[in-house]
Amino acid sequence: NKFVVGVTGGIGSGKTAATDRFQSLGITVVDADLASRVVVESGRPALKAIEEHFGSGVIAPDGQLDRRALREIVFADPDERKWLERLTHPLIAQEILSQIQSSTSPYTILVSPLLLEGNQHQMVDRILVIDVPQDIQINRTIRRDTTTEAGVKAIIAAQMQRQQRCEKADDIIVNDKDLASLHEAIDRLHTTYLDMANARHK
Ligand code: ATP
Repeated sequence: NKFVVGVTGGIGSGKTAATDRFQSLGITVVDADLASRVVVESGRPALKAIEEHFGSGVIAPDGQLDRRALREIVFADPDERKWLERLTHPLIAQEILSQIQSSTSPYTILVSPLLLEGNQHQMVDRILVIDVPQDIQINRTIRRDTTTEAGVKAIIAAQMQRQQRCEKADDIIVNDKDLASLHEAIDRLHTTYLDMANARHK
């Protein structure tokens, strides 16, 4: 019965910058990306199943999952992608829920780039979208990843569109100014979320 706030946004929108701030305010941040890596760590049953299904070509010399090799296979074949998702999605959900259950902070953040695409939004009480104008988004991502404008645009095109994402939000931070402004906006929402969590636990 924990109060959970889901944080999402497009590539380079500032999800990490935002959740780092929540963390420094003492709030536990559960990261769906990290959870999705944990479930396929070497020694996990899911990795064994992936190796049996796709062959040893998806296992790197160090025994870890070769993400790039796997991505190439499932990118080219929707049925293989579905097979992989049927295996991993329930495990990722379990991992996320168990991390949320372990959280002892007044409320908990779940940060996920795919919060609104799949079922993960069902795990949260409130949705915070980090929104950013596309030109800023492209510039920040190019600077961070040393990638090209075309590369970033292709990823943006493959993600949920800005308007659609914002329509699903309970709260929106427009991250178009400096980091200090982002932190101020987070600090204000933090107060609100503390009140909401308190009301829940009365
Ligand atoms: P991804 O989904 O690609 O992991 P993200 O949503 O987590 O991205 P961040 O990594 O937090 O985005 O931000 C993208 C880049 O923009 C980072 O280099 C970050 O430091 C920078 N950044 C974020 N917010 C601001 C801001 N308000 N002012 C200046 N730089 C910012």
